[in-house]
Parts: sequence; C-alpha cells; structure tokens
Amino acid sequence: MKRLTLSLALVLPLLVAWPAHAAPAGDGQPAAEKAAKAEAKADEARKAQKAEKAEKARKAQKAQKAQKAETAMETHKTDGASDGAIDFAASVAGAMDRSADPCADFYRYACGSWVDSTPLPSDQPRWTRSFSVIREDNREVVRELLEQAAANPGGGPDAARIGNYYRSCMDTAAIEETGLAPLESTFARIAGVEGGESLMRAAGGMHRLGADTLFGIGVFPDFKDPGTNIGFFVQGGLGMPERDYYVSDDPKKKELMAAYETHVARVLETLGAPAEEAAQRAAGVVAFETELAKASRPAPEMRLVEKLYHKIDRAGLQELTPNLPWDAFFAAAGHPNVTELNVATPEFFEALDAAVQAADAETLRAYLRWQLADNLAAYLPERFVQADFEFFGRELQGQQEIQPRWKRCVSMTENALGEAVGKLYVEKRFAGDSKQVALEMIGDIGGAFERALPQLAWMDDATRARALEKAHAVRDKIGYPDVWRDYSAMTIRPKGFLDNAIAANEFEFDRQARKVGKPVDRKEWGMTPQMVNAYYNPLLNEIAFPAGILQPPFFHRSFPAAMNYGAIGAVIGHELTHGFDDTGRKFDPTGEMREWWEPAVAERFEQQAQCVRDQYSRYEVEPGVAVQGDLTAGENIADIGGLKQSYAAYRSWVERHDEPDPPVPGLTDDQLFFVAYAQVWCSVNSQEYERMQVTTDSHSPARFRVAGAVSNNPAFAQAFACEPGEPMAPKERCTVW
Ligand SMILES: [Zn+2]
Repeated sequence: MKRLTLSLALVLPLLVAWPAHAAPAGDGQPAAEKAAKAEAKADEARKAQKAEKAEKARKAQKAQKAQKAETAMETHKTDGASDGAIDFAASVAGAMDRSADPCADFYRYACGSWVDSTPLPSDQPRWTRSFSVIREDNREVVRELLEQAAANPGGGPDAARIGNYYRSCMDTAAIEETGLAPLESTFARIAGVEGGESLMRAAGGMHRLGADTLFGIGVFPDFKDPGTNIGFFVQGGLGMPERDYYVSDDPKKKELMAAYETHVARVLETLGAPAEEAAQRAAGVVAFETELAKASRPAPEMRLVEKLYHKIDRAGLQELTPNLPWDAFFAAAGHPNVTELNVATPEFFEALDAAVQAADAETLRAYLRWQLADNLAAYLPERFVQADFEFFGRELQGQQEIQPRWKRCVSMTENALGEAVGKLYVEKRFAGDSKQVALEMIGDIGGAFERALPQLAWMDDATRARALEKAHAVRDKIGYPDVWRDYSAMTIRPKGFLDNAIAANEFEFDRQARKVGKPVDRKEWGMTPQMVNAYYNPLLNEIAFPAGILQPPFFHRSFPAAMNYGAIGAVIGHELTHGFDDTGRKFDPTGEMREWWEPAVAERFEQQAQCVRDQYSRYEVEPGVAVQGDLTAGENIADIGGLKQSYAAYRSWVERHDEPDPPVPGLTDDQLFFVAYAQVWCSVNSQEYERMQVTTDSHSPARFRVAGAVSNNPAFAQAFACEPGEPMAPKERCTVW
C-alpha cells in the first residue's frame, strides 16, 4: 500500500522518502539453507564483537554529543527549559558561503559551506541539513524507547508489541534459523500456479501478507463521494520503482535494467533455482514486467486525477478482465465481499489480462517467487537482505553501505507500529506549546493566502470566491492524533521476526480492507507523529504537521520570527497551496472531485502552471538529465506559493511586533527569512540518487526547490538588491498563487 500512495500521489507530502526496499525471499532449499546457517553461525562471534565495538563507539559519540549540546543546533530542546536557541546565529552563518553571489546562485550562497564540509554518510543516498539530521536524531530517541520496551515486558500491550517487534528484528541468529519457513505455504501455492484461477489465489494471499504483486491496491475516499471509502485498483506489479526504467532508451537506465535482471536471477538462485535456470527465468520475469510497464501510464500522467476515476462493481471488474478470476483473489485475500471499487487505470488491467494469458506458467511462477522475495526482503535472512541492498541501495541509489541493523529495525518497527511508537515519542519529545505557535502561524499564512487572492490577475471574482471558501474549509492536524490507533488485534511475539512482520502487514491489510464502503474516519492520520514531513490530503481538504517537523531547524519557539516563517512557515504555505495546485484544484472544499472553476479561469491557471513546468524543465541534475517539469509541477507550485505566503505573513507579523536587532550579523531580517528557507534544503547526495529522483519523485531536487522558489519571488530580489535579469531575478516570473 505504501507504493500505491506513492504512485497515485493522492496524499501530497513535503518530500518523498523512497521506502526502505524489501529484499527477495527464498524458498526452502534445505542444502543451501544449511550452508547459510553454518556460515551465519561462524559469523556470529565476529558480529557480536563488532556489535560490542559499535555500541562502545555509539556511547562515546553520545557523550561527545551531550557536551556539544549547547552549541549544536539539532540538539535544541523543544521542552524549552534551557532555551537552546542560543547558537542558531552561528549555525546559520556557518552553513553559508558569503563569497557566493546570492543573485547568481542563492543555494550556493545559503548552503555552500555546509555542502563543502558535509560528507555524504556512507549509509545514506542523500543527506539533508534539516530532514536527515532530525530524522537520525529521532532514530536515536526511538531506539532508546524500543530498547526500554524490549527490556521491560510489563509496560503494557503496545509497549510489548513494539519491544517484541524490535527485539525479534535484532535477533539475527533466530532469523537465519527460521529461514523462509513462515512462507512455505505461500511458496507451495505459487508452485501450483497453472493459470488464471491459481494465479489469482496466490496473488490474493501475497497482497495480504505484504507482497503487492501484478497490480496495486489501496483504500481511499471516493473521489465523487469523499465521505465514503472505496477500494482502488491501480497499475503496479513492477520490481523497479517506475515504468520508465523498462521502456526508456537512456543508456544509464538500460544499464540499470541489465543489472536488475542479474539481481532477479541472483534472488531466484538464492531461492533454490540452479544458476542457468535462474538466469533464464529472470529474463522471463523482466520481459513479463516490461509488458506491464508498457501498459502503465507514465508518472506525470498519474497526476491527472480526473482520469483515475472509473467506479465499477465486481461484475464490471470481471467483465473488464475475463481471464482473471477475481472471486479467487478476494477470497484468498480474506475479504470475499468487497464490492465498491475504483479501477484507476482500466487499460492496465486489460493488458494484464492479456499478459497473463500470453505468459507460460513457469514464468508466472518465477515472477511470483521473485515478487514475494523482493517485497519481503527486509524481513528475511542476511543473504536476501544483502542482495537487495546491493541492487536497490548501492546500484540504484548510490548508497555505499547498508544501514546498521538497528537503524533498519527502528524503521521497520515504525512502519509496523508507527502510532504505538509515536505515542511514546510525543510524551518524550513534543512540547505542548509548539502546537499553539504552529496554529497561530497556520492562521497567519492562511490569511496571507486569502489576502493575495484579489491581486491575482488571472482569476475572476466567481472563482476567487470559491477559492476563498475552500481555503476557509481547510482543516489542520498538528503534532499527533487525538485518537491513537488500536493495535489490539495484532499479535507480536518475542521471537520470530518474519512471522511478526507478516502479522503486522496482515493487520494493516485487513484494517484497510474493512474500511471499504464505510464512512471516512477524519481523525485518522496519514503520517506518524515522529515523521519529519508534512502533507496535504485533497480528499479531506486537510493539512497535517507531525511533531517530528516542529523542531529546529524548521521551528523553535525562541527562533527569530524571520527564521520560523522562512522555514516551517514556508512548509505550512507549501501544504496550503497544494489545495490549489494542478491536482489539488480539482477537488472542492469537501474533497469532492468537481469542476468548480470557470472554464476560462481554469485555462489561465493552466497557462501559469505551464510557465512553472517550463522553468523547472530547464533545470538539469547533470548534462542531459533534466527535472520533469510536468511530474513536479504540483510540488513546485506549492513551493513558490508557500514561500510567498509565508513572506507576506512574516511582514504582517513584523508590523504587529517590535523586532529586535537583526540576529545574524550581516543579514537583514528579510535576508535571514530567505536564508532560513534555503537552509532547510541544504543537501548532499549521490549522483545515482539524483538520477533516480528525477525519474520517480514528484519533488524537485533540493537545490532547485531553492532556486525555483526564490527566483519567482520579487521580495527576494528586493531583499538582496538583485538586478532584473540576474539568474535569481528573471525579468519574467511565473506567478500562480
Ligand atoms: Zn508537497
């Protein structure tokens, strides 16, 4: 379901974190299993030694960090006892390169020293001054919570769940010993696949245990009746993150596809196929996936939400794909009575039907085995985890080393039991008064958006009035949910990581499936409290800011206003603007997909949006590799609008308050506002990561989020006295909101 949210872009996050990829699963090859076990045991002593060393290093590092706490920005306490904002000025100034010309390259000016002095950590494909630093800091906090929970089984049912999940994840000896035993029945079902009926039965079980295969499914509010949930069926079934990899002529992508085929073969071999057979089957698997890719819409087209709505009942679905017996799928998935469905991409399902008909049974079986192992890789023995990392981590994203196991286990526990972890996290880390300050800023920035509406020449009064109505209707969520998720139906044991992972996946699948046909729960959150991110959901017309993002360098209650408005303020403006970007604008104040724009105004909006598409299409991450202006349009519109509104809100704040002297030497307040915005995006990354990002991500690479937004902002040019025509102050600007 994670992948679906990603590809459908129904919920619009501030940034997309490519999900930690799961590795392939193996099927019980007794000999190979034994050999691996022996190897694992031999490794054990060495690993224990290594772990002890790592633990020592961690403790030393921690002590060092504690010493630095007074000066390091990322360690500011949000509970505010000893206001930690003392040294923000040094931190801001230290990241800048003042020898750069802000009007020529503002990203360099704001982030240059930080970029020059920050190596890319070997276990990351990218590293961002704001998001990554907080995220890693949070990870330490959560690790302690999980270790405490694992050590004290008497802490209550949810504490026991997270403690057990984490402990079983860290128990690599048990994981090696268990091997693939919990998947035996699934592999047996796959071995019996002959055609449609048996294929759909296998696929139903796989979807439920967390291995989306053949297509994607999910549950969302009905576009035309957003108070009710329906099931969504959408293109999917690919091992690579985007269809473009399969169909592109780009030599770099072709190289990756060759490496991908080798990876599929390696996994099939690890599952027990002889090398030659594995290679042959892998070629068949990639050919089959390529058929699905050809029938898939390109990523930018998936943004055209009005083309993703085809409500259908079970009979209609069966008629669309006569050779795919859906009763078998739904029964095996454990929800035989689901009826209300939206087939987002019908042509894909027709092509899937044909591809299945055309494929031989051997290929289908190999495809399912590969997909099972691929989706669940992270939960499997080391040889699967390694293979998965070597392709998806190293080769695809340019990450040099796999993350230490504890980091992965923290992430996996958060994926499985996010709100159970989040509840403990907010108790420890979320300062109550942050919520009040955030609410005030949302009010301010929403007000700035509304005040700007009359100045938009491309709008008419009728549409303006409706836009105002929509802006008023936006609901906000801040910090953490009012009602915590009930995990009581999920059984997590102290041992048996793969079983635990499957239990958590099935819990989530059932939780989603049971929503179909039911009223939408407006209290539910789409992110966990500890996430360093934010989102807008057009179907609920709501914005959400988890506790995780309400921290330095985004926000601190004793930061100067210029910094808070430049950083978290621009994030708030970004999310609000999503309600009015190229997809958000198609939903009305209640979340219903409806044409509420005067046609001539909608056309003028498209012209403004086209200006943004063209501008960003000129940005290249390397010669010949450009940002996709159409894929990133919504995010870019939100960045440009969000920065403008936040600036306007800041100016009105200044009018209401006495500003102290400029807090960062050499920067005016307005300059500090823009520097604070840019410094959220200071980042270093591998070249491979950027190539992947422009192919798959609806967000532009960080440095263009800076250049794009400031160069469309006249107040920026004024703050830095840029001459018209300089790179950051073009004569023609794109103005949407
Ligand atoms: Zn966004």
